[in-house]
Amino acid sequence: MTNTELTRKKFIQQTMGVIGYGIVSSAIPNSAHAVTKNDSPKFSKQLVFKNVRLETGFHRDDFEVTGTKTALFCITIEDGKIKSIQDNTDIKGAIDAKGYLMLPAMKDMHIHLDKTWYGGKWKAGSKRQHSVQDMIALEEKILPELLKTSTARAENIIELLQSNGSNFARSHVNIEPTSQLNSLKNLYRAIENKKDSFGVEIVAFPQHGLFRSKSEGLMKEAAQMDIDFIGGLDPQSIDGSIEKSIDFTVQLALDYKRGIDIHLHESGESGFKTIQYLIKKVNESPELKGKTFLSHCFALGKLPAKLQEETAVQLAAAQIGIISTIPFGGLIMPIPTLYKHGVNVMTGTDSVVDHWSPFGTGSMLQKANLMAQLYGYSTELELSRCLKIATNNILPLNENGDQQWPRQGDIADFNLVDASCSAEAVARNSTIKALYHHGKCAYQNSTSSSLS
Ligand SMILES: [Zn+2]
Repeated sequence: MTNTELTRKKFIQQTMGVIGYGIVSSAIPNSAHAVTKNDSPKFSKQLVFKNVRLETGFHRDDFEVTGTKTALFCITIEDGKIKSIQDNTDIKGAIDAKGYLMLPAMKDMHIHLDKTWYGGKWKAGSKRQHSVQDMIALEEKILPELLKTSTARAENIIELLQSNGSNFARSHVNIEPTSQLNSLKNLYRAIENKKDSFGVEIVAFPQHGLFRSKSEGLMKEAAQMDIDFIGGLDPQSIDGSIEKSIDFTVQLALDYKRGIDIHLHESGESGFKTIQYLIKKVNESPELKGKTFLSHCFALGKLPAKLQEETAVQLAAAQIGIISTIPFGGLIMPIPTLYKHGVNVMTGTDSVVDHWSPFGTGSMLQKANLMAQLYGYSTELELSRCLKIATNNILPLNENGDQQWPRQGDIADFNLVDASCSAEAVARNSTIKALYHHGKCAYQNSTSSSLS
């Protein structure tokens, strides 16, 4: 953290007094704040659950894993952590988890919480815009209107994600001359309002092109605020220079000790060269290893198989992660190849009913299901492994069937799911019955009989 950096809290305190959140101060309906979880009666220092189903191992025959063993447990949570996991007994006053399966909370690792139609009127896509450039021109027109409701809508999306089992998101936020820093400021307010039930990390995203829209100064300002990653967009096709754009991004990340997460839609030669140049820069600055990500990275899907393998090996060595929304149709990403070579693969919603796409559901379990279907992962073992793309690599059982989650002392971030095991949850896209964030109930499915 730098001396000049503002924490979100300080920033909010200051701006509330000075500018009242500027552009949105009078536009947020009161109802947007009526649903925060701060008042929830379910919050308590200690919670005890009975009848919690945990995975304990695999059944095997002489050929393969044939099923998943489970058992019921009592789990005590204290101060947001798992205090104990004990044999199941009928503890008086304990919350009855009714045999639902406890799975890790899910993580949406690529979303734009700051700009959406969600929570407003339904709006489908348009064929007027054909390119990223066209979309930028559209955004320059519509963002001033979107900013008026962006705090409330971000909170609505967070609730959507929670209802689908996620307690965390990595949100890109527009930093460009039309929004200035207002999209970021509005998002800070939503994060503050939801901080007891949801975690967010922020990517400062020069959506209209770092140099194309002359956003360098704004990006430097944003880098000194409470953000986690420096974003980027198509260095060649939007900004005209791979080296110039990546160099700026890398330097800003180094200067302010941030990570990097670049939207790379470009395929073909410039996409591949961008991947190669970023790998080179990260290898030159090893402190960026494990903190650098390429979102979408469609170029990988267009490479010949041998080059996909070689590039996956390089990405793994540089510890550069790939965040894919798991596209299908015209482009299939080489996700199995990335996994094979140890690349960190994550997924996210990206759009939830916005001007980029009307299709986002906010379900990471659905993404795991999509991955399973797309790449033919249909056995008990394969399906159980697919869950990791939804949970950002946390799985109840390891490959050998040894229990590795949850453990005493773990942060109590979990779902209760109407499924008999991880494999079934992925294959059936099972219903999320409840989500707990740091030991507090963040969501409960109201259409079923509630936990009691
Ligand atoms: Zn995106």
